[in-house]
Amino acid sequence: GCAWIHDEFVPISEARIPITDMGFTRSDLTYDVVSVWNGCFFRLDDHLSRLQRGCEKLRLVPPISLDEIRDILITTVALSGLHQAYVEAIVTRGVPEPGVRDPRRVSPQFYAYAIPYVWIASEEDQARGVSLALACDTDRIPARSIDPTVKNFHWGDLTRALFEAYDRGASLPVLTDGTGKITEGPGYNVFAVADGRLYTPATGVLEGITRKSVIELALLNDIEVIVGDVTVELLRVADEIFLTSTAGGVMPASTLDGMPIGTRRPGPVTTWLRDGYWQLHNDKRFALPVDYHR
Ligand code: PLP
Repeated sequence: GCAWIHDEFVPISEARIPITDMGFTRSDLTYDVVSVWNGCFFRLDDHLSRLQRGCEKLRLVPPISLDEIRDILITTVALSGLHQAYVEAIVTRGVPEPGVRDPRRVSPQFYAYAIPYVWIASEEDQARGVSLALACDTDRIPARSIDPTVKNFHWGDLTRALFEAYDRGASLPVLTDGTGKITEGPGYNVFAVADGRLYTPATGVLEGITRKSVIELALLNDIEVIVGDVTVELLRVADEIFLTSTAGGVMPASTLDGMPIGTRRPGPVTTWLRDGYWQLHNDKRFALPVDYHR
């Protein structure tokens, strides 16, 4: 892998952030993850827009322009030589002078790196479907202390939910908000298929780019999409459940709290959306080729 740090490209093993960067000490940052598939970025501009919106919400002014960030990400991947990559862009509050606590007096930093593509679900889980466990997220009552639409490193609740899922013999958790509604999971959005319609939570979640791709695909093909409250009861009677993430695309689920979902196999709607999602990677509107030989 390759990283961009302090105005230079370095091998990932040499990338070191200062320990006093408030991104680290305060989790005062936002980031985004975009994938490179077969040598092409997928929906890079959607990811950059989300990064920009996150910065605005946190009143972080990146040290360079969005165009420069875009160029750095492309060069990071070109230098890494990776054709299937997980590419992360991070804007942190930066390193304060000793004694400074006022965020207005700190200069934000931009860091980036590219590593081999990451799959949230194992190969077996992707083929057979992920086993899910509902995990009650008491931290989200009434809400997380961070706006969940800003991509952030506040993963305490998400990591706790992962352990809860492992403890109960499942691969991945679906978080609930304590009022009987589901939210999302560590690195993915959640969809249910019931009566031929798609359901996904509207609020309390990151507006995933994979989620957006799936919603667009569904609407183009006259599948009704309901973006609104998704209850635990709906999940329990759903015909299909799947997860969406830049790290793995559309991932079918087979069981929920030990009970089979539908036929317990990846269902037709999920399979169709998964295929459609990967086909979008050849679409010129979304695929930006990396020039590895410049
Ligand atoms: N929800 C959370 C908490 C995430 O960290 C992510 C990131 O991957 C997602 C959802 C899915 O978003 P995307 O499809 O843009 O990768």
